[in-house]
Amino acid sequence: MRADLLVAGSGFFGLTVAERCATLLGLNVVVLERRDHLGGNAYSEPEPQTGIEVHRYGSHLFHTSNERVWRYANRFTSFTDYRHRVMAVVEGRVYPMPINLGTICSYFGAMMSPAQARALIAAQRAEDADPATLEGRAISLIGRPLYEAFIRGYTAKQWQTDPRDLPAEIITRLPVRYTFDTRYFDDTYEGLPRDGYTAWLERMADHPRIEIRLGSDFFDLESSPVGRVPVVYTGPLDRYFGYGEGRLGWRTLDFEVEVQPVPDYQGAPVVNYPDPAVPYTRIHEFRHYHPERAHYPGDSTVIMREYSRFAEDGDEPYYPVNSAADRQTLARYRKRAKAEPGVLFGGRLGTYHYLDMHAAIGSALTMVDNRIAPLFSR
Ligand code: FAD
Ligand code: UDP
Repeated sequence: MRADLLVAGSGFFGLTVAERCATLLGLNVVVLERRDHLGGNAYSEPEPQTGIEVHRYGSHLFHTSNERVWRYANRFTSFTDYRHRVMAVVEGRVYPMPINLGTICSYFGAMMSPAQARALIAAQRAEDADPATLEGRAISLIGRPLYEAFIRGYTAKQWQTDPRDLPAEIITRLPVRYTFDTRYFDDTYEGLPRDGYTAWLERMADHPRIEIRLGSDFFDLESSPVGRVPVVYTGPLDRYFGYGEGRLGWRTLDFEVEVQPVPDYQGAPVVNYPDPAVPYTRIHEFRHYHPERAHYPGDSTVIMREYSRFAEDGDEPYYPVNSAADRQTLARYRKRAKAEPGVLFGGRLGTYHYLDMHAAIGSALTMVDNRIAPLFSR
């Protein structure tokens, strides 16, 4: 197929661009994907022994308050009514996470009204902490005792960086509630794709004007397409420029998947382990994402322990570290990206910005409206 548009990367960003450009603009879109499967990090597959759907790159929970993204997603999949809930084990006791009235009452061993809990936390946060850092912001939200039990160890394991050197925005992703509401997310819409992430992603790609080339790296093309055909690049920003401005820091994850010969291993989809003595950050148990699936076996289950570390050469980049040095490097790359003719940079890797799935889809829709459609309108 002769391409009107070339997309590097078949994650949610690349596939949204490809689908909209093929369907709305009538363009022929070639999508190059370095891996041997489409879908980027949202890809999932059945574990061979049990048939239980495993999210290969870590648990993916879909949630959004963006009406347009929700309507768009529902063109390709229906969603279950799954609501994400997480438990945390601290010093041998188990509590609901994120921190809510139940966590506070259990941790301090007393029934409290919302007003009493607020007063207790207000007394515990009365200290001088820099609200620009993760530690300072966390203490000002939940006080020092809860910070030390639930946040400090987990964050140190997850980021291998002193929480006083991390930006506050990481912790503000977690709500704090003075009710017994234990939901992890606050968004209007939430659910899991009824027949799995891969079926959803494949339906997005299923269009006669879209060709997906798996196992095909943008940098292995015989000659550069840049200048001959518009390119949307969703791979790592620093790699595009041959690391000419230095390397951007990423965190990667190691996953240990195990089939356990029990019907239910931990009674919850995700259990966090904030204690520093435990080497992993959390354990995922995938059967709990789809209690409605009758074909899952009754005598075995799949768990996945998650470990976190700095990415080195050859590791998958998962979360931008975003240190002060990274931000300076990023500013130099952004300048070069702006000046690169015929190439649009998008997605989590292409912008060096952590994006949830709904945000990746939303920003791809905006790129099609504002940047790509005008290129092809006469
Ligand atoms: P990606 O999904 O990373 O896709 C980029 C694609 O580009 C990849 O397939 C890659 O192989 C390909 N590529 C890279 N370089 C090249 C090249 N040179 N040539 C060809 N192809 C290339 N979001 C949520 O909403 N909820 C969650 O619970 C959630 N959990 C997450 C957990 C983890 C561990 C991670 C890392 C992310 C999570 N996300 C979650 C975010 C979600 O995965 C992102 O929204 C999504 O990855 C963004 O899509 P993307 O297309 O920008 O990037
Ligand atoms: N966090 C924590 N303890 C927990 C869960 C989360 O300290 O039990 C902190 C940690 O710093 C983490 C941040 O809250 O990076 C955001 O949590 P989230 O669950 O959004 O992390 P993600 O799923 O993106 O890894």
